[in-house]
Amino acid sequence: MSAITQNERPATTARYSSLAPPRRYLFGPGPSMVHPRVYEALSKPIVGHLDPFFIQVMQDIQQLLRAPFGAGDGTTMVISGTGSAGMEASVANFVESGTKLAVFANGYFCDRIIEMGKRQGANVVRFEKPWGTTFSDKEAADFIRREKPQLVAYVHAETSTGAVQAGSAICSAAHDAGALVIADCVTSLGGIPVDAATTGIDIAYSCSQKGLSCPPGLSPMFLSQRAMTWLGARSSPVRSWYLDLKLIYDYSTVSHRYHHTAPISMFYALREALVVIAEEGIENRWERHRRCHDAFVKGVEAMGLRMLVPEGQRISTLNTVCVPEGVDEAKVRRRLLDAQGIEILGGFGPLAGKVFRIGIMGPLATEENVQFLLEELRKSLTAEGYRP
Ligand SMILES: *Cc1c(COP(=O)(O)O)cnc(C)c1O
Repeated sequence: MSAITQNERPATTARYSSLAPPRRYLFGPGPSMVHPRVYEALSKPIVGHLDPFFIQVMQDIQQLLRAPFGAGDGTTMVISGTGSAGMEASVANFVESGTKLAVFANGYFCDRIIEMGKRQGANVVRFEKPWGTTFSDKEAADFIRREKPQLVAYVHAETSTGAVQAGSAICSAAHDAGALVIADCVTSLGGIPVDAATTGIDIAYSCSQKGLSCPPGLSPMFLSQRAMTWLGARSSPVRSWYLDLKLIYDYSTVSHRYHHTAPISMFYALREALVVIAEEGIENRWERHRRCHDAFVKGVEAMGLRMLVPEGQRISTLNTVCVPEGVDEAKVRRRLLDAQGIEILGGFGPLAGKVFRIGIMGPLATEENVQFLLEELRKSLTAEGYRP
């Protein structure tokens, strides 16, 4: 058997040097910083996707996801695909032709749910509010009582705006109307409490690369007993074969019969990321994120900057800071990247040019890193003409 080694590469590929990604501090909304133990897990030898060892890895992950989701008596599973695959699985499995889907629309990702709903044949109604705001309990309940939908969707932590949407009033009004509730927990899972079971969420999806500090590629999901019962009774086949939750559940949890080849290394990585979280304790992790958020907000306000979202409605792992008058935010971000390899992102849609989106999560969420980030942000802003 011949193997190509680093030293004897064929002439045609010799012009590609070995991969050397730049060193970055990922202070953006995601992907977030990956824990060194997770990188190690990625490099472990793969086994087959039906190997008893791998089945155990999947089961460990389902167990380890329970605390971050607050799963109660619900079910957890994992979709092979990024957060959007979890979103599409949620929509495709719970929409049938003509299903009335009510969506709370106050940011970018709600619109993605709407687009997917339409493509699946749902009759979509939307309740729109400006980006950065949230829906009060009364607004949420009134909307659902008026529209009488069969399915309701909201985004728990809206990454495009930095706002957290409370879910209890949405869920109880939806259940009164006989509807199931989808919550987008892509940014919240692992960063802030999701409390899926106590909130009354029926279907939640997330991703591996934000609050869980793992590379992108998997989408953890939560399903309530009501959602599982509904799925079992669904009469028409789900239009997406790959994202059919009944088939995926059967592979991962029931028969372990082949459905698709699970991305083995990514499952190793997710398992390790969840073990790291379990060792710290999920509550300690939430608290650490909250402390870093408080320190960060104090620091930016001391610089004379303003947060976009009112206190009490902010995602503690993702800060939206208003760009001061007369400052070109893209240049500030470029300076941070060039000087220190710090990545933060800007806003888009109605918030383009108006906010910085700054994530402080996972291994980066320490007091020391917050002070480092604040100091570098101050330097870049000053260099771009900002005078506090
Ligand atoms: C990132 C994100 C998504 C999409 O996830 P991908 O992993 O990029 O596919 C969906 N919803 C929210 C709230 C997000 O932040």
